[in-house]
Amino acid sequence: MSANPVNLNDILNQAKQNHAQNLRTLAVFDLDSTLFNVSTRTQKILHEYAEMHKLDHLKEVEVFSEDWGLKEALFRKGYTIEKDLEMLKSIRDFWSSRFFSNEYLHYDVPYPGAVCFVQDLLEAGCEINYLTGRDHSRMGKGSLEVLKKWGFPVGADNLFLKPEKAQDDELFKHDWFKKLDHAAYKKIFFFENEPVNVNAILQSCPEVDVIYLDTTHSRKQTVTEELKRIKHFGRN
Ligand SMILES: [Mg+2]
Repeated sequence: MSANPVNLNDILNQAKQNHAQNLRTLAVFDLDSTLFNVSTRTQKILHEYAEMHKLDHLKEVEVFSEDWGLKEALFRKGYTIEKDLEMLKSIRDFWSSRFFSNEYLHYDVPYPGAVCFVQDLLEAGCEINYLTGRDHSRMGKGSLEVLKKWGFPVGADNLFLKPEKAQDDELFKHDWFKKLDHAAYKKIFFFENEPVNVNAILQSCPEVDVIYLDTTHSRKQTVTEELKRIKHFGRN
C-alpha cells in the first residue's frame, strides 16, 4: 500500500457535487507515465534495432514499466558502459529519434482504468485538460491520434504541448498553471508522475490538488511521503 493513496471515487464525487452547484472542476493530466505506460514504446524501438542489426541477445532485453528510458533495461541484461559504449550510443540515438516521434506513440498503452476514469470525470461535469512535455512539431499529431484512439475525451482545445522541444518541461508546466484562471474553478486536480514537475506546481500553485502517479520518473527529485498518490487508475 502506498503512503497516501487517493480514492478516485472521491474525486468523481467532488466533481459531481461541484457540477450540481454550477461550480467548475478542472482535471489536468500529464501523458507519459501518467495516463500512458511508455515502456511498450521503448520495447518496440529496441526490438527494431535488434532486428536491423541481427542482435539476438538484444532482442531478449525486456523493458519493465518501472524503467526510465533505456539504460535500466540494458544494464539489467548485462550491457555495460565499459564494454558496450559504442553500441549503447548507437542504440540511444536510434531510440531518441523514434521515441520522440508521432509514429511511435501508437505503441503506448494506457494504465489500467485510465480511459474509464477520465471518461467518468467528464461525465461528472469535470473539464479535462492534457498537459505534456511532448513538443508540438514532433509529437502533436500522434498525441491527438493516440488519445482519440483509446477513447480519451480530446480535441484541439484541451491538449497542451510544448511549442519548442528545447523548452524545459518544468518551466512550461509552471507557466501554464500560472496563466490559468484559477478563480474560475472551485477545484483543480493535477495528475503527474514527474517529481520535478510535481514539486514545481506544489510550490507555485499550492491551491492545486496534485495527485502523484507513482509509476516511474527521471530520478532527479523525489516527492514528500505525504503527497497523495496512485500507481494507476484502477478502481474497486
Ligand atoms: Mg510524465
